[in-house]
Amino acid sequence: MKFYLFGNNEHIDMTNPSEQFVSEFCDVEKVDPHYGDSEKCPLCGRAVSSKKWLEPRKIRLSNTRYADHLYYWFCNYPFVVSERFVKAYKESNLIGITEFSPLEVVKVSRMRKNSPKPPKYFIATIPFTRNVVIDVDKTIVVGKNRDWKCELCNPFGKVRDYFEKLTLETSNWSGEDIFEVYNLGIVASQRFKNFVEENNFTNFEFIEIK
Ligand SMILES: [Zn+2]
Repeated sequence: MKFYLFGNNEHIDMTNPSEQFVSEFCDVEKVDPHYGDSEKCPLCGRAVSSKKWLEPRKIRLSNTRYADHLYYWFCNYPFVVSERFVKAYKESNLIGITEFSPLEVVKVSRMRKNSPKPPKYFIATIPFTRNVVIDVDKTIVVGKNRDWKCELCNPFGKVRDYFEKLTLETSNWSGEDIFEVYNLGIVASQRFKNFVEENNFTNFEFIEIK
């Protein structure tokens, strides 16, 4: 089974320096968010996620180019998908997402009289796994050293800038098609990628983990 990380489709448009980040689809922004606790590492107790976004969860979209998967310009944003995605996922045999919680779109910028209304959006809850981990011996991380290490959530003892080489230890993989790996992020299976492509869901980018 091949596995993938999620990229974001935004790229710097070198031909137009005034508009540095261009995106084919709308951006999403939280409106008046309330936060709870972050998730903690089961080994060392340090935070391994950003703080949990609590209800009522309201969002604003930057334009009417709605996508099936919404990104914020910054990483660490919850996994937000359209109602069409949710329906197809529930009818599929995929596993990994444990809950879909509704969001409320309170504003769409640049909306005109005859613009289409936004679809309903949902946050997908994707739990951490301990069955797939970074293969520490076969992975090279570039970044500054930290003064602490944790076998699970910071095995390299570094603030990561990027991976020069990334390998996963997947021999204990328990079959989920989407899951979060400690010290890495959300990972999808080949089946998940096929599902997205077969349904033509928009604004997903997959980066193969080799
Ligand atoms: Zn830890």
